[in-house]
Amino acid sequence: MAPREQLSVAIIGGGPGGLATAIALSELPYVSVKLYEQAPEPREVGAGISIGRNAWNILHVLGAADGVKGAKKGHSWQRNGRTGEPANLDTASSSPGDSEEDRYADIRARRTRLQAALLEKVPPGIIQFSKKLVSIQDLSENKGVHLVFKDGTETTADLVVGADGIRSIVRRTLFPDHHLHVTGNTAFRVLIPVSSISHVKDFPATTGWWHGLNGHFYFSQVDDEAERELCEITVRSYNEPVTADRTATWAIPITNEHVLARTEEYDPRIKELLAVVPEGAWREFAMVAGPCLKDINAWDKVALVGDASHPLSGAFGSGAAFAMEDGWILARAIEHSINSNTIIKDALEIFQRIRGPYYERMYAFLDERGKALQRSREGNADFDSIIKARIAGFGILEGGALDWIYKNDIKQVWKEYVASEQAARL
Ligand SMILES: Cc1cc2nc3c(=O)[nH]c(=O)nc-3n(C[C@H](O)[C@H](O)[C@H](O)COP(=O)(O)OP(=O)(O)OC[C@H]3O[C@@H](n4cnc5c(N)ncnc54)[C@H](O)[C@@H]3O)c2cc1C
Repeated sequence: MAPREQLSVAIIGGGPGGLATAIALSELPYVSVKLYEQAPEPREVGAGISIGRNAWNILHVLGAADGVKGAKKGHSWQRNGRTGEPANLDTASSSPGDSEEDRYADIRARRTRLQAALLEKVPPGIIQFSKKLVSIQDLSENKGVHLVFKDGTETTADLVVGADGIRSIVRRTLFPDHHLHVTGNTAFRVLIPVSSISHVKDFPATTGWWHGLNGHFYFSQVDDEAERELCEITVRSYNEPVTADRTATWAIPITNEHVLARTEEYDPRIKELLAVVPEGAWREFAMVAGPCLKDINAWDKVALVGDASHPLSGAFGSGAAFAMEDGWILARAIEHSINSNTIIKDALEIFQRIRGPYYERMYAFLDERGKALQRSREGNADFDSIIKARIAGFGILEGGALDWIYKNDIKQVWKEYVASEQAARL
């Protein structure tokens, strides 16, 4: 039974979370969806992105999997950054890698490919660009939410989905006491042609982390074998000084000199490789993070999805999958609550019940990992022990310890929720 009136939903932000929410909600006949994105056109910054089993699962559900192509990661090497020696020879990577699942093995892809695949599945007329949300206000009980954009336009919606990323204005309005902090962990990222590094002798051009004392170097291909055009380099610095002029930067150009100064301790092959990056190509991303939010909805008419709901600062390297899963679960919750007189309220409660504990579990894991790393640095631990603790923190040495993240099957999660609800009624 359809409700008497259409439900209007305004999604703020056109990243993976917003686009997935738009795809999932636009399939519901009684929902009218609009997505407002601040950028003037589709754009995606930040080089490459990992697509693992959990991301494939949600991409399949959204019908967008076939549009995503990239480089199969195979074994993800963890290396001593000073020598290049593998530090995880005896462990399997989190990649499934077997031939049956070959097409959907773990890949590293250009971010633009994920975005294009999702954009293609959003029906025409839903996305409006150059719409930067500047204020959001709760109208009285049945009047929905009032939104004002930078260009002076306004609208109202029954339900607002804050998919506006880690610095979400929606979250800041709902939860003004929740604050982000600059972590000091900064990523410098670039995509360069594979052909430009062919002269670097004996450089293993497979996916890998090269660990140093104060950061790591990450290398991966981002195109499938047929193309093999670009590869990705990230230099991570864990202890960047947080000064007034360099607090939270995002995708700003940074000089080669600045990046190279952070790679003094690395293997000479890495330095040779970094020398080919053209001046002006590096982009700096200073990480921000915030505590776990107890609630990822408010006012009985606003939901937060993706980075807006869990400012994890890129931890787990799987935030795009989390964001897409959020959007799909929200759509299921609305569909499930369709016969209720308080459809949005009920749907938001279901959304909270499924996704809230999932993020709490992630925060708890990070907390434990942080403590273990801290312990490894105490008592004059040597370089090898520090690296070992760091690699253990990736969750791969315990073989499958993070399957609840990397192999998450969102369809199954929903099935289990429905079954548990039915069981509770008996
Ligand atoms: C260095 C780094 C590496 C990462 N690597 C990976 C990885 O390998 N795999 C992975 O899955 N994840 C990775 N992540 C995490 C991933 O990028 C994010 O979790 C994911 O992009 C979150 O999607 P989102 O849709 O929630 O937010 P975003 O992708 O941030 O999208 C938010 C959108 O909202 C728009 N917006 C913001 N404010 C407004 C406003 N006021 N009005 C209108 N629009 C607005 C923005 O323009 C943007 O388009 C990484 C993150 C970092 C920092």
